[in-house]
Amino acid sequence: MNNITRDQIEFLVELQQMETAAAKVQSQLDELPEKLKQIESGLKEIEEAINIDKENLAELKKAYRAFDAEIQVNQGRIKKREEQLHAATTNKEYQAILKEISEIKKASSRIEDETLACLDNIDAAETAIREKEEAYEAEAVEVSEKKSVFEAAAETERRSLNEVLAQRDEISSKIDSELMKQYEVIKSYSRGIGIVQVIDSICLGCHMNIPPQMYNELHRENEMKTCPHCHRMLYVIK
Ligand SMILES: [Zn+2]
Repeated sequence: MNNITRDQIEFLVELQQMETAAAKVQSQLDELPEKLKQIESGLKEIEEAINIDKENLAELKKAYRAFDAEIQVNQGRIKKREEQLHAATTNKEYQAILKEISEIKKASSRIEDETLACLDNIDAAETAIREKEEAYEAEAVEVSEKKSVFEAAAETERRSLNEVLAQRDEISSKIDSELMKQYEVIKSYSRGIGIVQVIDSICLGCHMNIPPQMYNELHRENEMKTCPHCHRMLYVIK
């Protein structure tokens, strides 16, 4: 492979370190939207619970109005029967109307019990909603604080990423363009790692042994060698 100088190898190694560091920061930044979503998930849960409670409350109020209407109707019926009672001409008719009135009153009494139970349920539902709304407010304050912390951390990460990228550009300008091209190609099919260290004949890219002769030649640092297994560029630290 092409003859190179020790400097060029060092620049490439440094470039690789910069790019690995940049990728790490970038992956942390990429996680930010998901982290923010997780922070907000508690709020969403409370919001959904409040909506369910509000639907429940609306149903209870609807039932209450229906009971109330039924009571009104029954009161009208009783009033009408009482008028009929005055106009009754026979005892039989009188007794029949009385019986009817008693039955309507019984039914009304049942409905009134149900109305009272319904009012209790309305009270309970309103309390539950108020409590959840308070919990929501408290959670919202906490979420906003947590988000600020995350966003500030992300801003620091962005700045450090920009610094690393600037350093990366500076180093890459010192690298021979052919060598750079080769490095980019290798990187593209080697999960972003183009150059790796060899320690005791073992390539740290794939953890396989390289041939003894190649290992010896690597120490001359005058030629770019690539791993026979993972095809990454190799270097040794002497
Ligand atoms: Zn390898």
